Amino acid sequence: MPKKYHIHPKLMPLNLNSLFKFKIERGENCINCGKCTKVCIYEAHKRGKDDPRKMADPNTMVCRNCFRCIQECPRGALEKSLDKDFLNIGGSYWKSDIFITLWKQAEDGKVPVTGAGYRGPFTGDGFDSMWTDMSEIVRPTRDGIHGREYISTSVELGRKLNHLTFGDKGQLLSQIHPTVDVPIPIIFDIPLDNLSPNVKMAQVKAAAELNTFIVLPVKEITPKIGKYINNIIVLLTPEEIDKHQGLIKNARIVALEYTGKLEKQLPALKDKIKKAGNALTIIRVPVTKSVEGIVSRLAQGGAEIIHIVADYHGREIPESAGESYRIIKDIIRAVHLKLVDDRIRDEVTIIASGGIAMAEHVPKAMLCGADLTAIDLPLLIALGARIYEEPEKIIVLPDGLEKITVKTVKQRMINLMSAWHSQLLEVMGAMGIREARRLRGETGRAIFFEEIDNETFGKLFKKRETKNV
Ligand code: SF4
Ligand code: SF4
Repeated sequence: MPKKYHIHPKLMPLNLNSLFKFKIERGENCINCGKCTKVCIYEAHKRGKDDPRKMADPNTMVCRNCFRCIQECPRGALEKSLDKDFLNIGGSYWKSDIFITLWKQAEDGKVPVTGAGYRGPFTGDGFDSMWTDMSEIVRPTRDGIHGREYISTSVELGRKLNHLTFGDKGQLLSQIHPTVDVPIPIIFDIPLDNLSPNVKMAQVKAAAELNTFIVLPVKEITPKIGKYINNIIVLLTPEEIDKHQGLIKNARIVALEYTGKLEKQLPALKDKIKKAGNALTIIRVPVTKSVEGIVSRLAQGGAEIIHIVADYHGREIPESAGESYRIIKDIIRAVHLKLVDDRIRDEVTIIASGGIAMAEHVPKAMLCGADLTAIDLPLLIALGARIYEEPEKIIVLPDGLEKITVKTVKQRMINLMSAWHSQLLEVMGAMGIREARRLRGETGRAIFFEEIDNETFGKLFKKRETKNV
């Protein structure tokens, strides 16, 4: 059995302006009886450090909204109220609840539990209209997190052979392409330009500790950052390949931005990169209406890894204003099915990014057909970043973040990935899938609301329409 992959979370609070859904407050009618200290198992209520006769302010950060203290306070002195900032943050895709969830995951690396249960809608847009088949959840032997069963979350990046060829004497004639293993199906995508050096370095170190990768433009790779080249995907233009031969020599993966002419140049560029070292090549393709055609041509032309990049809402990038767009779940499915139709799906690795906002989006993107995912904004939300979608995208980083130690920032990203990894194990265990690579394109193990809705009510409504006509 291969060695188990472990991520080590540590409690890592960040004392910067945190965001809460509900604030818990203690009124003046409190008689300091201390009953709330006993009923709250999350220790949100404590006596004052300076004067233990009095209660300290409640710690909203650890509160899980179970309402027990409110019910049990003999004076009705405790109150929960909706925080105003919470309602303003995010937008139609990055809903405010996502911020609270990611923040808590980065705090302690655990899967957040809420005592108030799930009260959200039954379905929604994008990944929210997709459910996974957890029929294996009833089997008590399935327990990926606690180790009774080995579940592998690792995936392989690189070109694969469609079949093997053997000679007359049974000797292998096919040349096996090199691949790179990543223990979780998540890599970090290009950080924002204006990040402070401590945050950039922490992202790189977190990627290295997790044994995954971070995509970095070549100009960002200073000698200090270059020490982590084993976990860096060097992003450059075809024109920069000659200039950075030294860096490419040591890199395991490089990435090139897609341009129309790159399709023709690809074999020559791959050769150039291979001459410098053994790096695999990723082609980053922005998601437009013609993405599946581009991906298919690149795959036929010998591309090893293709990264499809949707916008931060997980939408297609419109070619003209007001154009309709597909969303990441449907884009990945279209790309996957095109490659299956063209009989080349197994030969190429597909990375999907844009709109990967929650842990559950990772297995869902893979069920739609991605081999792995790339994330960027969740890493910043883990550090307290606030995103406002309307009227335009604004990302606000918390004041003072640039003074937080690299160790703290790095640990919060590791905690976030620990929580996501645990949730991936839970989903895979409940689905009865033991290898992450087997999630890819398993749409038979997912339920899509649009399809169920159409199957159940489609005919009815069509009939009604016909009648009216
Ligand atoms: S249980 Fe109520 S009255 Fe007693 S210390 Fe807590 S808030 Fe105050
Ligand atoms: S609502 Fe529940 S979790 Fe929150 S402070 Fe009260 S007892 Fe603790």
